[in-house]
Amino acid sequence: MIRDNSPEGATDQRLIGTYDQGCQGPTLVCLGGVHGNEPAGIHAAKRVFETLTKRRIPIRGRMVGLIGNVEALRQGVRHVDVDFNRIWMSERISKLDIFKPNGHTSGATASVEDREQMGLLSSLHRVFDEADDEVFVLDMHTMSADGAPFALFGDTLPNRRFASGLHAPLILGLEEHIDGVVLDYVNSLGHVTVGIEGGRHEDPRSIDYIEAVIWLALVSAGMIREADAPEVAQARAAMTAISRDLPPVVEVCYRHPIEDGDAFQMTPGYRNFQAVRKGEVLAHDKNGPVRCPEDGYILLPFYQGLGNDGFFIGREVKVGWLKVSSVLRRMRLDAVVHWLPGVRRHPTLKDNLIVNRSRAKWYALEIFHLLGFRKRRVEGDTLVVGRRKPNLANGRRS
Ligand SMILES: [Zn+2]
Repeated sequence: MIRDNSPEGATDQRLIGTYDQGCQGPTLVCLGGVHGNEPAGIHAAKRVFETLTKRRIPIRGRMVGLIGNVEALRQGVRHVDVDFNRIWMSERISKLDIFKPNGHTSGATASVEDREQMGLLSSLHRVFDEADDEVFVLDMHTMSADGAPFALFGDTLPNRRFASGLHAPLILGLEEHIDGVVLDYVNSLGHVTVGIEGGRHEDPRSIDYIEAVIWLALVSAGMIREADAPEVAQARAAMTAISRDLPPVVEVCYRHPIEDGDAFQMTPGYRNFQAVRKGEVLAHDKNGPVRCPEDGYILLPFYQGLGNDGFFIGREVKVGWLKVSSVLRRMRLDAVVHWLPGVRRHPTLKDNLIVNRSRAKWYALEIFHLLGFRKRRVEGDTLVVGRRKPNLANGRRS
């Protein structure tokens, strides 16, 4: 149990709303404003709370809306001191005062985002402690480029099940390229998590799309019945229409990092999911043209504001591959993958494997993805992969 160290009144500032009818069931946490210049998710959650309340729509369990970075939202900036969605490493969080008896925020020395993290941790853990069934967390973002909304998640089977009900293109593996995202932390606690990118920051349709995703999330989590809310059918139609010509599943295979002083300038006009070719000049920086490393789809091209991600490149994953991987994981083949040549168990880290890349050439990282592992790090010829934390709720494993 975690004590509430947040200053007086901070909890109310962070709360967008809450709705339940005292009926046992799952908890859906809609998290908005993790980046302060992305308020669309907060507006969308408010609309859903209003409709649920006004029409007293029957619900199992409880929906809660929380604001991530209250101060950055107040200032209208992505973040104040550091990116709030890059500081959720478990080892860092375990050292925060919030987990210590009689702990307190270390006031003057803490960054704005340190204090926001303490506040959000308090709010999240209070909701998790009160939950009496499965917990789902939807992290709602928008982007600097135009393009259709999409859902992203760590590839566990419960995350997949939840995400596939949102009728948005599914993006796998983004978290292998970025450390410390809030959903990775929540996922490591055993909860089901999906992130949603709703569209361009200033586009009013982004609010509509995220609202649609929240309605679909309530159904996907088994909390409301479609018959009780016509919004659900409308949401499905809207999401299906916007996703129609897009690949249903994409795996992120490349991230272009931006360092301070790079003078990174994206070539104008790229949209999310635009097909790109190897060698194409996607941007310029102080070293000259930045070329596309392989054929694929461009995701999250960086056009303005703060941030360290220039763009991501994804490649389409065939839906059949996902079905195969579901079957293999249910057969628990992940438990014997260390029998493969060039693969051994990590001597100290549970659920981690060490792969000798020259001996294990013929099966690439993809086979580990297939079995539910993710890349942890590469050291010379050695690759370390770790099993994604199983989702624990209802005893189901991923
Ligand atoms: Zn964001």
